[in-house]
Amino acid sequence: MDEKHRKQIAEQINRQIEETRQDISSLSEQVKPIAPDNAIGRLSRMEAIGAKSINEASLTRAKTKLEQLKAVLADLDDPDFGICVQCDEPIPVGRIMLMPESRLCVRCAGKLEKK
Ligand SMILES: [Zn+2]
Repeated sequence: MDEKHRKQIAEQINRQIEETRQDISSLSEQVKPIAPDNAIGRLSRMEAIGAKSINEASLTRAKTKLEQLKAVLADLDDPDFGICVQCDEPIPVGRIMLMPESRLCVRCAGKLEKK
């Protein structure tokens, strides 16, 4: 991988870290405990609880992604960076730009998803 690509990827990762941080802070607002307010009624309270659990799942995913992005950023200078951790084939730069948190090539990622 050449320096130009490495720099582009670093910028991309930093952008995504920033976006993910914003997601985490807005989701954190939405998963605050729901007040047992009788005024919202039974159904809408259940809806609120449903929405809350979806937001909690999104929050967990966003936190995981943030950790992965930070790890990728730390490994960017590694000579093995951009090599699939599963099959040792180089990962195309286009894919790294799209999903920098993934350490797998498309083929290996596809295999994992099917399992
Ligand atoms: Zn692979």
